[in-house]
Amino acid sequence: MQSSLISKIEKARIYASESDRFSFTALQCEVRGDSTTHTAQLGPDGWNCDCFFFADAGTCSHTMALERLLDEMLPERYRPAIPSA
Ligand SMILES: [Zn+2]
Repeated sequence: MQSSLISKIEKARIYASESDRFSFTALQCEVRGDSTTHTAQLGPDGWNCDCFFFADAGTCSHTMALERLLDEMLPERYRPAIPSA
């Protein structure tokens, strides 16, 4: 294996262990709920989800779960209003 590729693999290992290096500005994720799988997205206009609750409230358990899961890997404006304990 090329030494340059080995050094990139090592750097990737270090980066992956330092989650604060990452800042998701867009993503799409299927969230498997208790009864149905929903598609949640983060884009230029913030969070979105295809569930009925999100359409009414502008937030839902799916997007809130992603906020908690990704936490510091989100730009501050997309982090949970109430930090996880
Ligand atoms: Zn939802």
